[in-house]
Amino acid sequence: MTHSLETFQSSTTGPGRGLPLENTPPLRRFYVETWGCQMNDLDSQRMTGLLMEQGILPTKAVQDADLILLNSCSVREKAAQKAYSRLGEYRLLKRDKPHLLIGFCGCVAQQEGEKALRRVPDLDFVIGPGRVGELTSIVEQRRRQGRRVVATGFPDARERNYEFDALARDGGYKGMVTIIEGCDKKCTFCIVPSTRGPEQSRPMDDILEEVQHLLDYGFVEIELLGQTVNHWKDPQTGDDFAILLDRVARMPGVRRLRFVTSYPRDFTQEMVDQFAVHENLSPYLHLPVQSGSDRVLKLMGRGYQVEQYDDLVRRLRITRPDLALSTDLIVGFPGETEQDFQATLDLVSRTRYSQVYAFKYSPRPGTAAPRLRVPEVPPEESDRRLQALFALQGVIQHELNQELEGRAYDILVTQWGKKAGTQTGRTPCHRLIHFEYGDQPLELGSLARVRVEKGLPHSLLGRLVA
Ligand code: SF4
Repeated sequence: MTHSLETFQSSTTGPGRGLPLENTPPLRRFYVETWGCQMNDLDSQRMTGLLMEQGILPTKAVQDADLILLNSCSVREKAAQKAYSRLGEYRLLKRDKPHLLIGFCGCVAQQEGEKALRRVPDLDFVIGPGRVGELTSIVEQRRRQGRRVVATGFPDARERNYEFDALARDGGYKGMVTIIEGCDKKCTFCIVPSTRGPEQSRPMDDILEEVQHLLDYGFVEIELLGQTVNHWKDPQTGDDFAILLDRVARMPGVRRLRFVTSYPRDFTQEMVDQFAVHENLSPYLHLPVQSGSDRVLKLMGRGYQVEQYDDLVRRLRITRPDLALSTDLIVGFPGETEQDFQATLDLVSRTRYSQVYAFKYSPRPGTAAPRLRVPEVPPEESDRRLQALFALQGVIQHELNQELEGRAYDILVTQWGKKAGTQTGRTPCHRLIHFEYGDQPLELGSLARVRVEKGLPHSLLGRLVA
């Protein structure tokens, strides 16, 4: 099997400090710390499932673990520094437990590769997101042969070990299904293309099989995942995301269908139309815009203009008037002027998002934005802009939540409330709602009719409808 060096690197070092651990106590418990996005959550669920198949069980107490996995995220500022600091803390546990294994996983692990083994002498292995399926064999190599393995790079999807029935899913109602991995876009601020590799779509049949598997196990909400989820294309037939959405939404048992993250430029009219056809397609869409200024969007390399984004929002809202939108925004991007920032505030005012995830720009290693020949925005100015954005969004969000007062929804019961006698759930438009359950608590994953009594800034209060 051959791979190009750019897309697939794998090496082993050692034995060095990595002496075989064959005669040490068996691995009984593992602990996973997960940072970042849902793709990372799903990778942690995969690793959990693979270890549990080997009889190694999860623990919530790190000091009880024989194996620690740090599943890192590079979207965070100073991500590598934070990851090394956490690995340093875990290393100390080896003093009392020499057979403890520490694995560095996720996007920072992909970036750092062998360097991580050099920097952290007690680190046992490094696994990038494209190699998660090899976890148990890597643990085995470390224990039996003393190899400190670095498994990074991006093998072709067909060569990856993806056993969806070995995933240890969190909860019993929402099943996440990766449909496309990696990203081929080149947004100038984003590190994802180098940490998650080139875009690779899974075949439709594999996806439908996994969804059916989840439905058979009683999952009621399906969430399709990908960095550019709506750029999915069946590798054999070329069928696009609109066709996939239609097929999944029609599967008996899918009560709610959601997908994340959509790329605005790839959203076709056929995809918009699915919101009119399928009631079980949640009226909630995360549609990252990043900036309200064409000039900044161009510097970001986003490939669309504000007018096109506005038009897409308009068509979506005509198709599904109850649609709630959320977005990602970056403030203080290099070259962003006060006028550009005002354009972002204008966009937020007219789009009226139910939620905004906003960040101050900070450079990421290997990205193009730091090399743009434009003036940087001073940190204190970025802070001011971020606070102004949050203040505006806070008012809009509260108003939108208040507008829902008096309406009744079939909500999905998702967890226990913080107060005794309460539970929380999600409305179809993905708002968090708290309610008192009365005599008997409701089964998690069931649907309940709840009327909104009060719209709070970040959630809703409701009452069960008889
Ligand atoms: S579309 Fe842009 S922001 Fe999203 S993952 Fe790809 S490069 Fe990053």
